[in-house]
Amino acid sequence: MNNRQLFLRHVAQTSDAPLALEIVKAQGMYMWDADGKQILDLIAGISVCNVGHCHPQVVKAIQEQAQQYMHLLVYGELVQSPQVTYARLLTSHLPAVLNSVYFTNSGAEAVEGAMKLSKRYTGRTEIIAFKNSYHGSTQGALSIIGQESMRSAYRPLLPDIQHLDYNAFESLEHITERTACVIAETVQGEAGVRVPQREWLLALREKCSQTGTLLVLDEIQCGLGRNGTLWAFEQFGVVPDILLLGKALGGGMPLGAFIANRDVMWCLTNNPVLGHITTFGGHPVNCAAGMAGMQALLEEDLVASVKEKEQLFLQYLQHPAIKTIRSLGLMMAVELENFPINKAVIDHCIANGLLTDWFLFAPECLRIAPPLIITPEQIRESCDIILEALDAVTGKQ
Ligand code: PLP
Repeated sequence: MNNRQLFLRHVAQTSDAPLALEIVKAQGMYMWDADGKQILDLIAGISVCNVGHCHPQVVKAIQEQAQQYMHLLVYGELVQSPQVTYARLLTSHLPAVLNSVYFTNSGAEAVEGAMKLSKRYTGRTEIIAFKNSYHGSTQGALSIIGQESMRSAYRPLLPDIQHLDYNAFESLEHITERTACVIAETVQGEAGVRVPQREWLLALREKCSQTGTLLVLDEIQCGLGRNGTLWAFEQFGVVPDILLLGKALGGGMPLGAFIANRDVMWCLTNNPVLGHITTFGGHPVNCAAGMAGMQALLEEDLVASVKEKEQLFLQYLQHPAIKTIRSLGLMMAVELENFPINKAVIDHCIANGLLTDWFLFAPECLRIAPPLIITPEQIRESCDIILEALDAVTGKQ
């Protein structure tokens, strides 16, 4: 049996049609399959590889830390310099109130931590989230995601959760003194890149402050430069009480975080002590990798060119089969007629050496979320492949 057959037989499957390409190497903007075919990566492992695959500084940091020490003890007991220096770097680039970082294994665990912390800090139980939001697949995160089709098979889920319309002023009326927290993606990703109005996020911030509700912004997908600023919330003039990070945070290694004010975070130390426990959260090798990734992002000034690159995509992607393109920076959803057309376009792109996909809650939209290192030439090349695929699939020119 070859690796593909073994993969289908022994690696648990979550879909009946996985891509099942066997990748043997990845570097910068490219992956190579087992036949040596080069594939241009237009989705960055779903917003993970912001500095590209196997960035040399990230690889070096991993090697050096692995030689120094790997796992030592469960989270929070020992002083581990990769955690300390990364927490310091992150907080030095955040508003002063966000000064305490809890490192987790994943985005979903950061969501879980934020939900627990909000309940514990406010003494309240209600959590408000939004329709079409995605926050992860563990039971708590699943309870707040905004798609009934994904939740329904797993009931009972967490009680006292409301799902409201995103970017709708009427929703704000439901936030009351009963609400522990409101969790929102600053820009909705899996909904097909839905950018809220600035006024709505400001009003949401205001309503949370009035009612003593914590505002939790999920930047697991949109954080770390993808939207053209280091943090998406900067573009809306709001500061959350808790910020959620993941994906690109680990520079390609698994790492998440919930970040809050030290006074809020202090709740996890008492009644009960050890309010959130993790064995591997903040793993020193992953923190070293994340730190090197963020340093590369800053040193190479990658965030500064994001908006220009977005404009290039928008300029090149003109085709009658494209209904609209929603975007903020290098987080873009190209809306086509329906899923079958989108799927055929995606398959055509992959056959021609360009990796893209669709969105969980917007299957008619093609995803563009490349590593931020993509060059203007690679943008042109990607768009040419997409346009050719659109011609081939839809016949429109
Ligand atoms: N929040 C958002 C906005 C996400 O896009 C994701 C993952 O796609 C998550 C949370 C969950 O992160 P993870 O898959 O690391 O648990």
